[in-house]
Amino acid sequence: MDYFSGYISDLVEQFASLPGIGTKSAQRLAFYIISQPEEKAKKLAGSILAARSKVRYCKCCCTLTDSEICPICANPKRDKKTIMVVETPRDLAAYEKTGKYEGVYHVLHGAISPMLGIGPDDIRLKELMARLSSGEVEEVIVATNSSLEGETTAMYISKLIRPAGIKVTRIASGVPVGGDLENIDEVTLLRALDGRVALC
Ligand code: ZN
Repeated sequence: MDYFSGYISDLVEQFASLPGIGTKSAQRLAFYIISQPEEKAKKLAGSILAARSKVRYCKCCCTLTDSEICPICANPKRDKKTIMVVETPRDLAAYEKTGKYEGVYHVLHGAISPMLGIGPDDIRLKELMARLSSGEVEEVIVATNSSLEGETTAMYISKLIRPAGIKVTRIASGVPVGGDLENIDEVTLLRALDGRVALC
């Protein structure tokens, strides 16, 4: 990449290090930024820095938020007796987009994967168990992805929670095997939620 200036090469390299961005896209983005007014570049850089430094985990559900407690947990209209467990904030967003789920969430930030060396202590399971100890929760809906990792996590959660006498359900199939929730249409998501089954 010697035919570009060092600054351009550096910018291309930064973009190319992002998930889903190949070298060609990285070059396109870098040249686009350079062609724009300086103000626009400053705004983009500012947004990146602000998001990185200000965004934090909700103290209750562990999703990413700007405040101590996220707007969903802070909403008195949400049913705190039902917790839907998802892998990522993007999965939460997918179910929120349906506008039909009235409970609250718990975001694990990953799934158990023995192959990748990710164990139960590496995801936000302790925080989930702490929430359940309040005795307020009546149902935990496990909405992890239908991948091997998602299923492993669902079984683990079920075994962990059942002794506490709390109902544990799993969203129904209809969500394709290996499918990420965020890529699934709203109708399928709702059908999976309505058709959830008890885990045993
Ligand atoms: Zn929250």
